[in-house]
Amino acid sequence: MGRPRIVGEIRKPVLELMPPSATRPHAWLSPDAAKRYKATCATRETFDVYLSSLAENKILEQSMNAAPKMLEVMGLLLGEVRSWKGEIYTIVRDVGTTDLKNSPAKVKFDPEALPRLFADLDRADFDYVVVGWYHSHPGHTCFLSRTDMRTQKAMFSQSFHCAIVIDPLNREIEAFKLRGDGYIGVPFTIVDGGFPRMRRLRTLGGGQVGQALQ
Ligand SMILES: [Zn+2]
Repeated sequence: MGRPRIVGEIRKPVLELMPPSATRPHAWLSPDAAKRYKATCATRETFDVYLSSLAENKILEQSMNAAPKMLEVMGLLLGEVRSWKGEIYTIVRDVGTTDLKNSPAKVKFDPEALPRLFADLDRADFDYVVVGWYHSHPGHTCFLSRTDMRTQKAMFSQSFHCAIVIDPLNREIEAFKLRGDGYIGVPFTIVDGGFPRMRRLRTLGGGQVGQALQ
């Protein structure tokens, strides 16, 4: 099996849809992230990322489980890219992950486990786009390291792509996007309740892995 490539081109048309209104801040927002949340609510602007509570719970649980051993975890954010009044935003419906080769210093997908990741993605009952990735920094606070920046630039370079970083020990979470040569924190929000189901448009078989993530 070839190595899957994640390229950012969106093949589906971007839907013009009003973002969800029933939102709440994540309980672990850093002071900066909390400021961005409040400012976005006050100006009624669109958040960059709308994270379902299902996805939020999975990220929390996975990072908390690995935290006692100081291990990092990571996964892909699966959802949709939408636009509203000229602003692009993403909906994260679910996450996909698999066994990881992780250590206190770094984390990466275990290549042997990729077939399981794609089987996991295959069970998703919606036609998704990989809208970004998440990983944990147990005890190191939230930022993008040089390695993270390389990952972001190589695999998540579209304007809608984000990186969610969670520190389960300091209880902090932030969302970042590339900006110029560096990165910035972007406002994100949690959405409770389900999103309406999308019709599944294609099957993601093992042989279509590269295609699936394009
Ligand atoms: Zn990192």
